[in-house]
Amino acid sequence: MKFDYEVLIVGGGPAGLSAALSLGRMSRTALVCDDSRPRNAPSSHLNNFPTRDGIHPAEWRRLAKKDLEKYKTIEFFDGSVLSVEKSSSGFVAKLSSETFARFRKVILAYGVEDKPLSVPGFKELWGKTIFHCPYCHGFEIRGSRLGLISNSEMTFHMLPMVNDLASDLILFTNGKAEFGEEQKDLLKRNRIELIEEKISGFIYEGEQLKAVSLENGKVKERQAVFFQPTLPFSLKSPIGETLGCEKNQFGFYKVNERGATSVEGVFAGGDNVSPAHSVLLAAASGAMAGVGTVLSLLGEQFAKN
Ligand SMILES: Cc1cc2nc3c(=O)[nH]c(=O)nc-3n(C[C@H](O)[C@H](O)[C@H](O)COP(=O)(O)OP(=O)(O)OC[C@H]3O[C@@H](n4cnc5c(N)ncnc54)[C@H](O)[C@@H]3O)c2cc1C
Repeated sequence: MKFDYEVLIVGGGPAGLSAALSLGRMSRTALVCDDSRPRNAPSSHLNNFPTRDGIHPAEWRRLAKKDLEKYKTIEFFDGSVLSVEKSSSGFVAKLSSETFARFRKVILAYGVEDKPLSVPGFKELWGKTIFHCPYCHGFEIRGSRLGLISNSEMTFHMLPMVNDLASDLILFTNGKAEFGEEQKDLLKRNRIELIEEKISGFIYEGEQLKAVSLENGKVKERQAVFFQPTLPFSLKSPIGETLGCEKNQFGFYKVNERGATSVEGVFAGGDNVSPAHSVLLAAASGAMAGVGTVLSLLGEQFAKN
């Protein structure tokens, strides 16, 4: 590992690896740092990615890293970026190896942190029969008795999709519903049962959800559920906040069309900039953050000559 690179990429998931590919193709030097906490690790299938539909997520990452081998300006560090501070020439990062390295630009590609419901069964079923997204996992469970656990401004965005997949649907708000009579009427008209009682756990066999149990002792038979976290999303690292990057009401970094955050020299892509959480879309916005970074580096160099 060197001491000086043009770009630090914090996160080696779909966003970080795609950003690295953009940078490699333009012969920029970059260090991709990853501490092995990929978001889709609980899942054994990565769906909805052209040419790789259904592949194992770890195999997708292996192939993406393999593609980068020929770009000798891209290096990897297996560990955490502990901190990033501004310096006179750009940024200085402290790595978990207790080493420091200097960079001119930074790409934040560390994704979001899923906060499991702290009830029995959630962690065991996450990515198996408790899912985050109907595009990623809905097709395999279409026609099943489904649930949606959600109680935010995103609820009625997700509902029509899950409802269309389900033979019958229950909306679990896991506490008093944060919406009014008009939406409750909409639920009734679509024959969606609303349950405001708190969830006490998930009953399952192996990886298969059997039922959702409630604090009042009732049990609701379900074959799979989708889960939307309470907003705002938590991110996997505070590095962007520490640098002063502005966030929106969902907890994502505000970026322009080239992935630039509100802080000069800091770019972002992937799950930490958008609620559209999929490998393809994370890769696309990561690639765009890479493009924005290249344009910024080359523009500065061009202007100096
Ligand atoms: C259970 C589950 C299943 C899913 N299945 C699908 C699917 O089938 N199809 C699909 O399209 N999408 C799926 N998704 C969504 C998909 O996983 C994400 O949209 C995608 O992984 C986001 O990519 P990312 O690069 O932004 O973040 P991530 O994949 O989360 O990668 C971020 C990386 O950054 C690293 N990191 C974080 N902080 C630091 C730090 N300080 N230093 C170094 N490294 C750091 C982490 O270790 C991690 O490897 C699924 C999500 C979940 C939760």
